[in-house]
Amino acid sequence: MANESGIRREICEIGRRLYAKGFAAGNDGNISYRLNENTVVCTPTQICKGFMREDDLCVVDYDGWQKAGSQNRTSEILLHLEIYKADPSIMSVVHCHPPHATAFGVARVDIPTCILPEVEIFLGIMPRAEYETPGGQSFAETVRPFIGKANTVVLSNHGTVSWGDSVEQAYWKTEIVDAYCRILLLAAQLGNIERLPLPKQMELLELKKRFGVGEDTRITHGGEMYVNPDFGTSASIASQHEALAQGIADRVAEILKQRGQQK
Ligand SMILES: [Zn+2]
Repeated sequence: MANESGIRREICEIGRRLYAKGFAAGNDGNISYRLNENTVVCTPTQICKGFMREDDLCVVDYDGWQKAGSQNRTSEILLHLEIYKADPSIMSVVHCHPPHATAFGVARVDIPTCILPEVEIFLGIMPRAEYETPGGQSFAETVRPFIGKANTVVLSNHGTVSWGDSVEQAYWKTEIVDAYCRILLLAAQLGNIERLPLPKQMELLELKKRFGVGEDTRITHGGEMYVNPDFGTSASIASQHEALAQGIADRVAEILKQRGQQK
């Protein structure tokens, strides 16, 4: 049985960290915890996550109906509930808009894997869910394909969602994915991203098995080591530059043609 007051304190503390890290501008983001088989405690709507008090939080059932709290529950609770219903072992969900990871969602670029050892061990694959208008059931369902296969998902044109055994654990996955994406973006500016060689990737997956850090579908289902293997490599940067140059050349040719027709 969860100590509800301790959980509420932890949600407020994680809210402060989300806000301090710049992961939740204004009133963005939401945090929840599975209290028992009937209810979930969550953050209210329209509140800055950096300044919440324990009695600001709401309690809802698994259909999203509010059971307690003076403020209205977050409009994105259906996303959290979808995750809890799909996997009874998940205890906490954190959703926010960390800028570097969200940039991948906006660019609709899949986050590449097998680059930093800790990210492989603690996060594994970080898939990207399709875009859907936030708040509704169809939005909540966009993450369903990844529950049981990942613990952190990028929401296209929106943000991230991560989950775990505790509020703290769901939160630090968000922190790791954003730091990782920041490093990838910096390295891409340097012109190259070196992926770990395959034998070293396998060593990490072995370590992961030994640490018992959740299941990794790359171990259980074999293969599929790469997500977006081309990201940031000199070949992909060269092809991006080529595409850009081609785009400019096409546009110039079009303008010249239009001018020719006007004469
Ligand atoms: Zn959101």
